[in-house]
Parts: sequence; C-alpha cells; structure tokens
Amino acid sequence: MNPFIELGIRHDIVNAITELGFEAPTPIQEQAVPVLLAGSNDFVGLAQTGTGKTAAFGLPLLELLDFSQKYPQALILCPTRELCLQISKDIEKYAKNLPDVHVVAVYGGASIGDQLRQIRRGVQIVVATPGRMLDIIGRKAIDFSNVRYVVLDEADEMLNMGFQEDINNILSTTPDEKKTWLFSATMPAEVRRIAKNYMTDPFELTMGTKNTGNANIDHHYYVIRARDKYAAFKRIVDSNPEIFGIVFCRTKIETQEIAESLIKDGYNADALHGDLSQQQRDKVMKRYRERSLQLLIATDVAARGIDVNDVTHVINYSLPDELENYTHRSGRTARAGKTGISISLVNLKELGKIRQIEKVIGKPFVKMEVPRGEAVVEKQLFAMINKVNEVEVNDNQIDAYLPKIMESFSELSKEEIVKRFAALEFNRFLEYYENAPDLNVDPSEGRGGSDRRGKSERFGRDGYKSDYTRLFINLGSVDDFSRGDILGYICNNTRISGKAIGKIDLKGVYTFFEVENAAVDKVFSGFQNVDFNGRTVRVENAGEGRGGERRSRSFRNGGESGSRRKREHGGGFRDFSGKRREKSRW
Ligand code: AMP
Repeated sequence: MNPFIELGIRHDIVNAITELGFEAPTPIQEQAVPVLLAGSNDFVGLAQTGTGKTAAFGLPLLELLDFSQKYPQALILCPTRELCLQISKDIEKYAKNLPDVHVVAVYGGASIGDQLRQIRRGVQIVVATPGRMLDIIGRKAIDFSNVRYVVLDEADEMLNMGFQEDINNILSTTPDEKKTWLFSATMPAEVRRIAKNYMTDPFELTMGTKNTGNANIDHHYYVIRARDKYAAFKRIVDSNPEIFGIVFCRTKIETQEIAESLIKDGYNADALHGDLSQQQRDKVMKRYRERSLQLLIATDVAARGIDVNDVTHVINYSLPDELENYTHRSGRTARAGKTGISISLVNLKELGKIRQIEKVIGKPFVKMEVPRGEAVVEKQLFAMINKVNEVEVNDNQIDAYLPKIMESFSELSKEEIVKRFAALEFNRFLEYYENAPDLNVDPSEGRGGSDRRGKSERFGRDGYKSDYTRLFINLGSVDDFSRGDILGYICNNTRISGKAIGKIDLKGVYTFFEVENAAVDKVFSGFQNVDFNGRTVRVENAGEGRGGERRSRSFRNGGESGSRRKREHGGGFRDFSGKRREKSRW
C-alpha cells in the first residue's frame, strides 16, 4: 500500500503528490501527519526548511477542511512573499484532484485588488505574509471567525523580521478554539513565548536534535584575509565548475557589489535584495530557477523561502549577523534528501563564530584550503574535457559542415587541435591564475597570517640588482598588505609574472619594489586608473635621490589618507562591513 494512504491521506491527494514525485513520506511528514490529522492538538514542529514541512501541514489541512463551504477555515502565516507563493502553489498542487479547493496568496508588493477579489469569490485557505494580511483585515475585507487552523510557518524568521505585533493582531481576529500549528527551524526564547501564549499543551515534534542542521549538509570554512575574500571566493567557485549556488551577503550594498564584480568577471550571477522591484526580483528568480544563473547573490531576507532544488552550494560570503540565520541559509541546499555544501569565508577574528555555529548545528566544520591556482586550472580543464566527452552531437546538423571543418583543420595534428580547443575555453583561467598567490591564512601563526609562498626564493635577495628598476607604490602595511599580498596585487593588476619582481620593501603607507627593466612599462600601464578603496593607486619611479624626496612627501600624504581610510573602511579590500543589528546573537 502507498505509505501516504497508510498515514490516512485519501487517494485523490496521494495520486496528485505521487505525480510530484513523493513516493514515501519524509520523516517530518511521517510523524506530523497522523498527529495533525486528528485535528485536536496544538502543535510545535522544530524542523529545517527543505524537510517537507509544507506537505506535513498542507496534506492534513486538505483532509480536515470542509470545502463545500467557501469561507476561510485555515490561515497560514509565513515571513516572505516567495514562501507565501510557494506554499499556496504547493497546496494547490496537492489538491489538484479535489473539487472546490480555493487557496489565496496574500502578500505585499502585488495588487491588493486581485487578492481582495479572490477573497470575495470565496476561499478556504489563506496563505499570507503578516503585513498585507493586516492591511486586508483593517479594510474589513475578510472574516476569520470560522478559522479552525492557524499555521505559523518559519516562526523564528517572522519574529526576526519584526512581525510579532502584526501576528498578535492577526491572531486576535481568529476564534479562541482554533488550533495553532507552529513550525520553526530554531527555537529561540521569542518563539517559545509564542508557543506558550497561543497554545494549549501543544504536541511537540523535534526532527533530530534541537536546532540541528540537516545531516546531508557538509559545512566547510576557509580562513582568509578580508582583502583576499573576493579572490578566494572566485577560486572556490572556479574549482567547482558545476556549482549552482546561493551566495549570502550581509547587506544590500555588498550583495549588489559582489554581483556586479562577478558579472564583470564573466560569471552567470545576479543579485537578489530588497532594493529591487518585485518585477526585478521575479526576473532574477526565474533566471535562477531556469539555471541561466549559476550564482544567486542574496541577502538573508530576500532569500527567505527560496525553494529551488539541487542547489549544490550555499556560500556565506559574510557570516550572518545572527547566528540563527546560518541554519536558514544552509537549509537552501540539500533539499529533498539531496546532499549539499555550506561554505563560510572567515578571517581569523571570526573563527570563534564558526565554533559557535558548530554548537548550534551539532556538527563540526571542516577547514578547507583555498585551492592554489594550478589546482583550479586543472579542475576547469577536466570539467571541460568532461563536457566534450558528454556533449550530445547532432549528426544531422553537423554533418553538413563537417567537410569544411575537416578541411580547415587538415594541416593540424589531432594533438594540435585538442590543444587549441582546450586553449580557447581555457585561456581566461590560465592567464588569471598564472602566478596566483596562496590565499590561505594559517591560524596558528596569529593575525595577519604568513607569507607561505617561498619568501626565500623571491624576497631573499640582498641588495638591488642592476637589471631591476626600483618603483614606488602608495600602498603599504596600513592597507593590510603583507609583502606577499603586494606581490599578488601587482601581478594581478599588471599581468606580469611574479618572477619579474625582485626585492619588496614594505613600509607603512608605501612600498618600494624592484621590477625587471623589461617589465617596467607594463607596471605603469597596469596601474593606470586603478583604485584601491576609493583612492587612486600611484606608481612612480623611485630613482635614488629623487626617491628619497618623494618618499618623505608620500609618507605625509599617504599617512593621512591611510589612517582616514582605515577609519572609514576598516582597511579591508572589499570588506563592505554591514551595520550590525542590535539584536545580534554572536
Ligand atoms: P519543504 O520543506 O516543504 O519546502 O519541501 C522541500 C522539498 O521537498 C520540496 O521541493 C518538496 O516538493 C519536496 N518534498 C516534500 N515532501 C516530499 C516527499 N515526501 N517526497 C519527495 N519530495 C518531497
């Protein structure tokens, strides 16, 4: 017998969910459905997103409501528009074979007129975000006097978003005898209080241990310097060619900036945050769902309720302000029994937060090394070779062109042809990662980390060599550069090989470095119009005598702007630190 039938769900519904691919109940469905079907209990379910919660309460509602009546009997409150739409659509799908089931999604940012019309026509299930719901109640456009079940979905998130008072007001319009079913990924004191205030002796169900994250998620972290974050992030993405990920940032500005940089660097990425219009957000989500985007860069709030299966990685570009949000973020991967990886990029000061999260999720993080340039290049190469092996060839279409193609290649050996195709796709990575520095910070070596990339081989020379020119750059240790960093920074901007750089003399607000004479022009042209944290980067010839004069002048100027910059930007490259919320739990 179908296991859902055994749980007490009727055939018409089971047929519909079988079409959705539900073969057997998920653990929460198995345990919650029989309790909720009895219809006589308040209920608290501690469950992560992606565990099948929606069906756990949606299926019992379809069994319990009287669809011959056309007034609201169930109210489902959830934190975001996306989740609201998802729940209402899911319930409609489960109810596909049932007559007269009417579900309305009530949420802000869309025409209230349409929603009011649907309500007037008669609905039994209202799925709503608190703000718009209250608006409609205020217009006396809905009657909740016959509501029998209230579901509070993602209760912790609704409270995080400040909906406590709205929820109180909405619930006060529903009858005292109704049953309340509360679902939450975490159980902070505020949620406990709601359970206490609104429920009588609720049936409590905890999936796994309290607050525990989904067991199918592996948690990784990388220790890097703040200014290397973007470069390290790109390496991680590049070494996962098949990535389909959500990247979490702390602020809208950071979200936008990272997305823009990624787009500029040739990635299929876009931003999702609250400053976008509803239409823009829908468009981004549509592209992500269709997989024309590989990376969705999002804020916590905007990503609430995103239900996209097969997300391979969640990347915490910045850790969330509130510890609880980590679980929400990582829950966007490993949905519906799949596996997934949640990655956090942290600096040394944030290691304590990783330890705190470990306590909450009850699972250790694995420390990972930012892949070296060569490793990334190799990953990309073999991903491409895989693609070539697996590509579907449409013989009919290609055959017509084949003689001409063969003719154009007639001079080349098989090996030459393979090399050229590989190079075509591949040059971007080869060039980018040539001489790419090691971006890992070794926690055992204290703040600032080590320059593990062969100091002796590159920096150990004594004295200046005559085939080198000594240059000055207005960046130094106050900008959080180590000698290794400045080497990487110069190579990245000028595309010259690290081998062309000689001794590096790192000072507070400036640095002298030697460059092979042949590469000097490249350095000057590479640093034309380059900005560092809003300041123009200046490179000058530091010839003896003149260099001394320039040095003292630069020191004064650079010193002032350097310290001011530190105050304004925290000194970090791409360290767009967001404002912390007062209620921070760290
Ligand atoms: P939810 O936690 O409700 O957001 O569900 C997460 C995902 O799991 C959704 O894509 C559901 O369609 C899917 N799902 C829920 N229940 C089952 C089930 N019993 N079998 C297979 N997939 C399911």
